[in-house]
Amino acid sequence: MSDVSARVVIVGAGHAGGSAAALLRQYGWQGPITLIGGEPVPPYQRPPLSKTWLHGAGALADLLLRPAAFYRSSRIELQSACNVLAIDRVGGTVRLAQGDDVAYDHLILATGAHARVLPVPGHDLAGIAVLRSLTDADHLRSLIVPGAHIAIVGAGYIGLEVAASARSLGADVVVIEREARVLARVASTPLSDFFQRRHAEAGVGIMLDVTVDAFEGVGGRVAAVRLTDGTVVACDAALVGVGVVPNDALAQAGGLACDDGIVVDRAARTADPAIHAIGDCTRRPLPLYGRTGRLESVPNATEQAKQAAADLCGRAPPPPEVPWFWSDQFDIRLQIAGLPLDVAEIVVRGDPQSGSFAIFHLTGGGVVQCVEAVNAPAEFMAGRMMIARRRPAVASRLRDVSCSIRELAG
Ligand code: FAD
Repeated sequence: MSDVSARVVIVGAGHAGGSAAALLRQYGWQGPITLIGGEPVPPYQRPPLSKTWLHGAGALADLLLRPAAFYRSSRIELQSACNVLAIDRVGGTVRLAQGDDVAYDHLILATGAHARVLPVPGHDLAGIAVLRSLTDADHLRSLIVPGAHIAIVGAGYIGLEVAASARSLGADVVVIEREARVLARVASTPLSDFFQRRHAEAGVGIMLDVTVDAFEGVGGRVAAVRLTDGTVVACDAALVGVGVVPNDALAQAGGLACDDGIVVDRAARTADPAIHAIGDCTRRPLPLYGRTGRLESVPNATEQAKQAAADLCGRAPPPPEVPWFWSDQFDIRLQIAGLPLDVAEIVVRGDPQSGSFAIFHLTGGGVVQCVEAVNAPAEFMAGRMMIARRRPAVASRLRDVSCSIRELAG
């Protein structure tokens, strides 16, 4: 067991870092905890940024993971608006942008990810937004006004969630996607078809199989997106939502193994016994799937925060969780459990036209690997249990809505 009176420094005050600090106290850590974050606010939830926050609903206090007073009362020293520039693993310190060094006995890297830039001419024109932080969201919110023409590059979750929000706010929206379907990287074809139809019904323009050549501006401000086929899409503002890149440069410069994310084990340990890494910045084992991967989700950030805190406090590791994720668009709540890996068969349960259905992904042996549930919380819960149990399911019974989903999971 670790010396629970030692000094823990956490770099990155986002979902993972904020959760780890709180869990360390909950699990009995007595020593100093310093939580250092580059943003000017305490740890907050990012999911609302593409959803309710764009509608102007809620205050900052509603976004925060915990009230600011929690850190004081829990003896967690929160240093906001403070970037860490380097790690000295030999000396056991981190160097702050302000010039000070902060000493650690244990370091937790929770540096998250940043929005990928589209490397085309004009990408830095005014009126082009990305969406990762609260500052980004406030910028985007100022651009989405009724009647504005908004071009969204990328039909992933961020792009589609913002499209739904912007449309509800009365903006004119066009989504520009390189792949042949929306959500191509992250969802099955039936799910893509469903979302594509719902967005089209709501008046969102969707352009597929097209590539951005450049952003064109007038007076330094974006006025159009030019595609490689010569099409010009006029716009007043644009959002680029083409994925994220893990913030692993600090770890790399410190000599830690990185492979599109900081490489960690099941307890969120790096190869350095004094350093853990958690959240979007990591490449982690996926025990149910026999491989490693990078997960970008709140449940993953929380799970790895538990792993690191339990490991440091000498507690039993938390049981491996089935990865899960959610997305809200219009009146649709999508919940996904598991990952669509090694899939031989896809089973659709329910009628997509009804707006409530689920898609189960099975291996050749019938083991459920993933469920995509649209306004279908019972199927989501049942699917999660089936994924964890690894027992083969019978596809014809899953498809048959007269078979109780609870009995199938039981
Ligand atoms: P982050 O929350 O990104 O926190 C990392 C923090 O580290 C940042 O504050 C960053 O400034 C700071 N940092 C980085 N480098 C340094 C440094 N050198 N020094 C100091 N600080 C540093 N997930 C879901 O499960 N469901 C959803 O519906 C969903 N919707 C989302 C909507 C949006 C708009 C966004 C942006 C994300 C969404 N996500 C969603 C993803 C989820 O928010 C992330 O997976 C989660 O925030 C990851 O937590 P993290 O702590 O690893 O990273």
